[in-house]
Amino acid sequence: MKTGEIIAMTEKYVMNTYSRIPIAPVKGVGVRLTDAAGNEYLDFVAGIAVNSTGHCHPKVVEAICRQAADLLHVSNLYHVPAQAELAQVLAENSGFDKVFFCNSGAEANEAAIKLARRYFCVTSRTDANEIITALGSFHGRTIGALTATGQAKYQEGFEPLVPGFTYVPFNDFEALEAVVTGKTCAIMLELIQGEGGVYPVDPEYLAGVSRLCKEFGLLLIIDEVQTGIGRTGTLFAFQQYAGFKPDIVTLAKGLASGVPIGAVLATEEVCKGFGPGRHASTFGGNPLACTAALATLDVILNDGVLDNVKEMGAYFVQKLRELEASTSAIAEIRGCGLMIGVELKEPNGTAVVSACRDKGLLINCVGDKVLRFVPPLIIEKADVDAAVQILGNVLSKMH
Ligand SMILES: *Cc1c(COP(=O)(O)O)cnc(C)c1O
Repeated sequence: MKTGEIIAMTEKYVMNTYSRIPIAPVKGVGVRLTDAAGNEYLDFVAGIAVNSTGHCHPKVVEAICRQAADLLHVSNLYHVPAQAELAQVLAENSGFDKVFFCNSGAEANEAAIKLARRYFCVTSRTDANEIITALGSFHGRTIGALTATGQAKYQEGFEPLVPGFTYVPFNDFEALEAVVTGKTCAIMLELIQGEGGVYPVDPEYLAGVSRLCKEFGLLLIIDEVQTGIGRTGTLFAFQQYAGFKPDIVTLAKGLASGVPIGAVLATEEVCKGFGPGRHASTFGGNPLACTAALATLDVILNDGVLDNVKEMGAYFVQKLRELEASTSAIAEIRGCGLMIGVELKEPNGTAVVSACRDKGLLINCVGDKVLRFVPPLIIEKADVDAAVQILGNVLSKMH
């Protein structure tokens, strides 16, 4: 099929919920994508932080093929070897005790919200069920996760939302402290707001939140759907803050290199909230997704990927700073590891994204002026050089 035919068919038959870029990638290798028209792109979007090991990493592909030939699905009525093994790897590398598996970031956050409420229910503080989240946050599109998302633009027209959520400005400790009541059960935060514009949490604020949670017996839920699985240079972003440990962490995007999966990590204590029948997912923890996740984690933990993220992240930021100095287009560079936001002075992000794509670089824009870079974690210096050169050309032409 030609690109035009694919676009026409999508527009005719697929519900109109995405404003799509008019290309149709059909093949991927590492950081490179080829579209239906034969054009090649350097992919610094990576499925929005999903293709952590790059496109079609041979170890991941091999594991998926092997598992697909053996068994795709059995149901959680039975024990699933790859699920047990994946839970062990995640627990041992995070310091958490147990894992619940689902299929997406929104589902992981739904499960975290349910777990937090149930925990208070079974530990007899039955009146505490309210959750505080941050303005500018993003936690997903299902109705609970959407309610947790502190951005009106995503919620408009979907009312009534779920009762029991309160929003506070991100990184403002006094505002947070002021809304904690006897009905609060949890605080839910991202460590770098991704969809909100790549805003990192202030370490002092985070320490304050952690203290507040201990003082009032609140659960701290950290949404690592985007920041997790090596994105920031440690397996989990929460590991970058000395002595910091949340009660619940949610994962998805990069966990299985592109096979749908979500996960909730929790402490033994918090797991008291769930017993048989309290939560479930038909596909959650299925053999295929768990095998893909095991292969992904094997690559990330054993092939030097975390060191690469630190090194390439620092190199990328250094190159972007040179660009900041040589063009007058950049207002701020933010982020950690390979989750980088470049805030432009002008609200022309969409035009920059299009111009970069025409020159063979895929990037993404959050809002109208923050360029977001979340490339595969296996990128090399030459990829960064090529990307920054294209971006530099585009920015100097537009300003
Ligand atoms: C993408 C994202 C989600 C939602 O994940 P889905 O898999 O699209 O449901 C939730 N939280 C954060 C921080 C995200 O970046």
